[in-house]
Amino acid sequence: MSTLYDKKAVKILFDTHWTSKGWRSPFATDPADLAYAISQGVMFPPVLLPHDATLQRLRGLCDSISPSSVGDAFLFGLGSKEPALRSALGSFAVARFLPAHPFTAYPQAPAGRTTFCGDCHLWLTPTEAQAEDLNVLNFERLKWGGVRHTRVMYQVFDLEQFRALAPRQPTGEDVALFHRILATIRTLPPNATAGHLEKALASAIPSNKNERRRLIEVLCLCGVLSYPGYRHYFDDTVPPKGRPYRDTDWGIPAMYWRAEDGYSIERLKEYFPKYVSELAAA
Ligand SMILES: [Zn+2]
Repeated sequence: MSTLYDKKAVKILFDTHWTSKGWRSPFATDPADLAYAISQGVMFPPVLLPHDATLQRLRGLCDSISPSSVGDAFLFGLGSKEPALRSALGSFAVARFLPAHPFTAYPQAPAGRTTFCGDCHLWLTPTEAQAEDLNVLNFERLKWGGVRHTRVMYQVFDLEQFRALAPRQPTGEDVALFHRILATIRTLPPNATAGHLEKALASAIPSNKNERRRLIEVLCLCGVLSYPGYRHYFDDTVPPKGRPYRDTDWGIPAMYWRAEDGYSIERLKEYFPKYVSELAAA
């Protein structure tokens, strides 16, 4: 369990959402426990995220964060086994390229009902009933390194949490672990997928399956692992022929990556500038 925050508060957050059998449904927290976890900055009251103000907040966050700082946290999160530290790289890499846009009502809304934005899923002016639950987001962040990196709601939360933590200085061991991930890619057959990579990494890095899946998704979202030509999550490139959209639980672009694509030196330079020569070495 994460040691970035107060231990008792993290346990309350985890017990709220998870049991030895999986997700707890419905979620419930004892009021006194909830108050304690909120006082420790681990759980939160519901929040209102109005469309325009939230996009502005996200833009401000992206402008205040450097690519190498999220890269450093990602590396530090490998050796320290703190999935949450690996999350901001994914959120930042998507959020920084989110196109500026006006609220555009989701087209399938029933007539006369308020709806959310079809581009970013935020409400125009949310009511109390449309308040967002940050607790499930923080649970996913601390347990697996985040799940909803492509959602503005998560990006704002994740990047604000990231900015509140002390900057992390990766160790030699952290860099060696990332080198081992990249070296593992070079051992795979050309048509190996993200799923094959996940299995191959089981013996390379201390982690469980879900942590490895999220780690691979983050490396794909930031373009370190990507199909040829991919620039960012919102670009207009298409994957090479013979790689159709697959109804798997891998996201875009992870579902399109193949081992023959390898990894992008350009993106390594951008997010891990101090370590690129070490990381790219055979
Ligand atoms: Zn929008």
